[in-house]
Amino acid sequence: MKTSGKKIFTFGPVPSRRLGRSLGIDFVPFKTCTYDCIYCQLGRTTNKTMERREYFPVDAVLKETEKKLRKIERPDYITLSGSGEPTLHSRIGDIISGIKEFSDVPVAVLTNGSLLWDGEVRDLISAADLVIPSLDAGSEEMFLRVNRPHSGILFKKMIKGLRLFREQFKGDIWLEVFITGGVTDTESEILEIKRLVDYIAPERVQLNTAVRTPAEKYAGLVDKKRMDEFSAFFGRHCEVIADYANVHNLSEFSSTREDVLSLIRLRPCSIDDISAGLGLHRNETVKYVQELVDKKLIRIEERYGKKLYSGYQTEKINNRRKDKKK
Ligand code: SF4
Repeated sequence: MKTSGKKIFTFGPVPSRRLGRSLGIDFVPFKTCTYDCIYCQLGRTTNKTMERREYFPVDAVLKETEKKLRKIERPDYITLSGSGEPTLHSRIGDIISGIKEFSDVPVAVLTNGSLLWDGEVRDLISAADLVIPSLDAGSEEMFLRVNRPHSGILFKKMIKGLRLFREQFKGDIWLEVFITGGVTDTESEILEIKRLVDYIAPERVQLNTAVRTPAEKYAGLVDKKRMDEFSAFFGRHCEVIADYANVHNLSEFSSTREDVLSLIRLRPCSIDDISAGLGLHRNETVKYVQELVDKKLIRIEERYGKKLYSGYQTEKINNRRKDKKK
């Protein structure tokens, strides 16, 4: 078991509707991002930056990835994503080429696409097999409202970057469009987004919405029926990928979920406590915890300004203890 203090670079394999069994690789510090999206399931961005550097040593990332691959069944994808924006790592290209030296599993990059106007970033991720960038707004006004970008990221420049990458990249581009209920789910905004999608011309368009707890409460969920209508409007190459049915219910993942639940039932824990206690990557922990909250098996409480998760069982036990003391 790994303990706190040491950065864990790999997570999963996690089940993904679009990528099958995906081994996640995370090599940027938690919430180090060019955006601060209102719908982000990891909470508010703590380090909004455009600074590209080697946040973690490439050798360490590759060593752990190779070791992990030896231990698990072959995943469908190795996905560079995680708790921040992966293109902020200045040596992402070396990470992709390094992985390809010991594995033939296709490499996907999940990026917000905000830095693709930079030719160097485009070149670095061109060695991937699949790139999944985001587009969440059809206008500058909505871009500022939904993505809350670093001041150096301009809407038009970002869109141009996506188009330039389309012209350069030989692999597939699946564009993720996150539709935020109460903000971008209007016909006029969807029309604007569609216009930009046509200009960018990705192989696929994947619609998502706030099925997980967003950074801001007002970032709403769009219901499945309406999402299907939007998908039909975007056309044949579009699908809804929002995880309404919760793909994490697959039995393969239930044992870890049970471990998370057992730990929380012992005592209230923060995400970091659970990650450290079970040797899980923070992202993975967030997913399991969210699922347990959705199923009403655990609840969120604020204590000393900290978000803690506790089991209902713990609460009952504590109440019983209090009653005895009376
Ligand atoms: S959703 Fe992605 S791009 Fe947006 S703030 Fe979170 S990590 Fe950054």
